[in-house]
Amino acid sequence: MSVLRLPRAVYNTLRAHGEETYPHECCGALLGRPTPDGWLVESSVRAGNIRTDSAHNRYQIAPIELVRIERDARRQGLQIAGFYHSHPDHPAQWSATDFAEAHWLRSSYVITEVAHGKAAVTHSFLLAGTTEEDKRFEQEKIHVIDDPPASN
Ligand SMILES: [Zn+2]
Repeated sequence: MSVLRLPRAVYNTLRAHGEETYPHECCGALLGRPTPDGWLVESSVRAGNIRTDSAHNRYQIAPIELVRIERDARRQGLQIAGFYHSHPDHPAQWSATDFAEAHWLRSSYVITEVAHGKAAVTHSFLLAGTTEEDKRFEQEKIHVIDDPPASN
């Protein structure tokens, strides 16, 4: 089982983002570095949810925003480790739509349930597999790191 390592500040921030946009979904990206058993996240980036048609149960990051996020990550020597979004009044489990729209193999997809406006359970799923045809979500452990790695 892989492990997603999240600094406490990032963990709190992505959960707070879900409370802020409730009853709509929030979404964003996670930046970090790969380790042998999962991602070590260093920061998160908020994204606007462009799915205004049904923002309560859909999320999508605009392609141009994604390009910008990726460029900023590279500039910091980081990679896109994954994405996060919220499930207002729904469990922190991926939906069929989440799976269909997940294309970043080996990235972590973090989902936070926001129940009645309060962040509840947070889970992470690694998009495993090598192609779009054999991709699958595997639940991974979230380790919240209290002491952020020393930066230079
Ligand atoms: Zn979802």
